Amino acid sequence: MSLVIPQPPQATVPVAGSPDSFPVHRIYCVGRNYAAHAREMGSDPDREPPFFFTKPADAVVFDGATLPFPSATADLHHEIELVAAIGTGGSDIPVDRALEHVWGYAVGLDMTRRDLQQVAKDTRRPWDAGKAFDRSAPISPLVPASEIGHPNTGRIWVDVNGEKRQESDLTHLIWDVAETVAHLSALFELVPGDLIYTGTPEGVAAVGAGDTLSGGVEGVGTLTITYAA
Ligand code: MN
Repeated sequence: MSLVIPQPPQATVPVAGSPDSFPVHRIYCVGRNYAAHAREMGSDPDREPPFFFTKPADAVVFDGATLPFPSATADLHHEIELVAAIGTGGSDIPVDRALEHVWGYAVGLDMTRRDLQQVAKDTRRPWDAGKAFDRSAPISPLVPASEIGHPNTGRIWVDVNGEKRQESDLTHLIWDVAETVAHLSALFELVPGDLIYTGTPEGVAAVGAGDTLSGGVEGVGTLTITYAA
């Protein structure tokens, strides 16, 4: 038996300080995981259970990339996020065992065509066109938890063309990584290679062609991408 078309390439993320890379299975994203961002998006930041959406695995793009400006949007927003990478799968993972399933961490950008997301919200349609488009998941090199531990405090920020846009601290996450893994694993069987974008703090705003985004998470790394002029 053979494949009738060429095998699609396996999406991967580089591992920091190593020639190795991490194969990507799925990309899950948490909606509204910082209270101040929930408020700026018009939601009640009460501690309702987290909700999730997905991006395709091949939406990842690497640190240093210059990207074509996405199609079909006049309101492309940055969302800087801590990313957790699953190394051991499971279902119904209890909170107190959840971090054992996390292989490492990265800095990510959940790029969002906010105008298309708003149309989807207004018309009660899926978010895919707003969230799951090509190259919508820039990510820094992954760092193993065996080196940095499991960050639950530390500055998270992104600048655009050198000007501050988002700045917060991981302590402001509504659902921390362990709680997020526990909730997610009750909905989906987690598999080694899954990435979880854990949500963004306040300050989301638009970027345009020619802009450079530079962000990071203290203790994890930094991520810079540019949209071609
Ligand atoms: Mn997000």
